[in-house]
Amino acid sequence: MPTIREHYERDFKRVKFALIVGTVVLMLVLMVRFNDLMRAHGYIVVFALSAVVMGVLFGVIRGRYRCPRCAADIQRLWNREWKQIPLAQRFADSGRHMFWQSWVSCPQCGTKFDEDWDAKG
Ligand SMILES: [Zn+2]
Repeated sequence: MPTIREHYERDFKRVKFALIVGTVVLMLVLMVRFNDLMRAHGYIVVFALSAVVMGVLFGVIRGRYRCPRCAADIQRLWNREWKQIPLAQRFADSGRHMFWQSWVSCPQCGTKFDEDWDAKG
């Protein structure tokens, strides 16, 4: 039985992997199929592609990291907190970029991230 933290970690890894694979495949398709377009408008194509990838990333992550107990959008709470951290410190604390690395429990209901994901309570 995974804990809540493990669930988030596993899910995040899967999302990251899917995104990398998706981007690489998209790039390959672009290079093979739209070679002329890339040569003529390289920057615009790459820019548009980045926008698409960012949009997908945002859509995938949004609402995904909710608390299993109170359904609080923890990712959004974390983003708000993240913006308060000075830039230099963000880079220094490289192991605390994700909320489950920095917080031990849900900021709204206090559910510990060490608890089982499926436990009712
Ligand atoms: Zn909660």
